Amino acid sequence: MSTTMNARMSTCRLVTLLVAAFSGPVLAAGLCAPDVLGPDDAAAVDEQYASMIIRPSEVHRALVKKSFEIAPDLLCHATERVVFVQHAGESGATMGWTSHAIPDLIYISALPKTASVRNLLPEYLARAYGTLDEGQIDQLAAKNQAEVIHSIIHEAAHSAHHLLDSQRDEGVFDSKPDPEHWDSGARAYAKDVVDNHRLKAGLLEGEWTRLHETFVAEGMARGWGPEEGNLLAGGFMSDYGATKPSDDIAEMTAWALASYLYDNLEQGEPEDMACQALRASGSDSLGGGNAAFYVKLAFLEDLGFITREAFDRCTGPVEFTTHPAQGFHVYNGSQHKRTIGEGVRAVIGEDTEYDEWVFTLDADGQGNFGDKTIDMHFGLKLKLVDGHFATLLDSADEVSWPRGVYRLVRPNAPSSFWINAPDEKSATLWATKGLVLVIRSSNELIEGSIVPQAFLRPFAPIPVPEIPPTRITFVLSK
Ligand SMILES: [Zn+2]
Repeated sequence: MSTTMNARMSTCRLVTLLVAAFSGPVLAAGLCAPDVLGPDDAAAVDEQYASMIIRPSEVHRALVKKSFEIAPDLLCHATERVVFVQHAGESGATMGWTSHAIPDLIYISALPKTASVRNLLPEYLARAYGTLDEGQIDQLAAKNQAEVIHSIIHEAAHSAHHLLDSQRDEGVFDSKPDPEHWDSGARAYAKDVVDNHRLKAGLLEGEWTRLHETFVAEGMARGWGPEEGNLLAGGFMSDYGATKPSDDIAEMTAWALASYLYDNLEQGEPEDMACQALRASGSDSLGGGNAAFYVKLAFLEDLGFITREAFDRCTGPVEFTTHPAQGFHVYNGSQHKRTIGEGVRAVIGEDTEYDEWVFTLDADGQGNFGDKTIDMHFGLKLKLVDGHFATLLDSADEVSWPRGVYRLVRPNAPSSFWINAPDEKSATLWATKGLVLVIRSSNELIEGSIVPQAFLRPFAPIPVPEIPPTRITFVLSK
């Protein structure tokens, strides 16, 4: 075995059995790409497809290579093998699929209308479409190749959510993907991601589902199902992504990463519908109509499904803005008025009074009350898990960071926000109505904003309603 092959093994974490079968061109060291199987690898695929494997051609290898040049490390770790088969999946009309039995393997259909050489290379397309000129044939080949790349990345995203869920606590949903499907490098990578984002209760049925449903509960997204259209406001990338949580992840990932392949094509339309709607909206700020999609896409970026470049390309001018320092930041309109940033502390624990898992963020600082400067304490308490999901979790370890949207109620119940003034009790302010949007959350960074809709001074001689500041952001970073 040459040193190049050794380098390839260490960067791509190939299963030994498949390295022996590898016969194609050797990739440069440092470029990650999964192995492309051929007919000799029948034992490595699900039995029903064993006799349908085609011998991969140069264009197949090139498309796999291109896909994983676009895709970040998580997808590359999750996908160890790609196979092209003469079949169209269980539905009979699928370009790509994965199986629960071998979740690190991607199947791509190589039937005449999908990823067959005849459908991918201009010289064959020219014979089939004699009326098209050379430029049109090249366009058609490029479009068909882009569809294959999109499919490979879509399936790699499925492999990746399975890989992350292989590191969850088995007790929460009574099962998990077997981590032994992946090599030790992929498992260690996934464990880091799971630890850093507190995903012990799982991603797919756990945090991803919970996050989306926080928006559904507030009328800021719609549930998964067959309904079509209205994608950005629904919180989805494409109609197919809106059908179920797993394809929601896969479609967001694939279109965020691959839509640019269509930029110079006259044929074919990318289905990054929510990205297109965000950029066309003329808005640069987060609100009820785009927050669900934005926060879900930010979560995928944090987890490593998509790159920052892909995130920025999709979201265009829309972004979350905050003062970058630790603590709470009070705004009047777009103007930053004050930071409450001393003794910032964040805790996940059980609120025994209300019997809920909660996240609390506290900080101290100073503010004005009349013409006096007084000490102030800001506190935010968010209810982390709700309903049936909450009953499945046994320890604070299994509870994730806050993410998504929370409705404020009167303190001290979760979820609530308060500004206490220890030396001037009548200056104490409680939010009695409002929303909290937690945009990003990991062990490294938690950030979001509070939009209070009503405040009360509970200890004023006569409790009086109070006009709230327009926005308070919060930042907690390591
Ligand atoms: Zn899918």
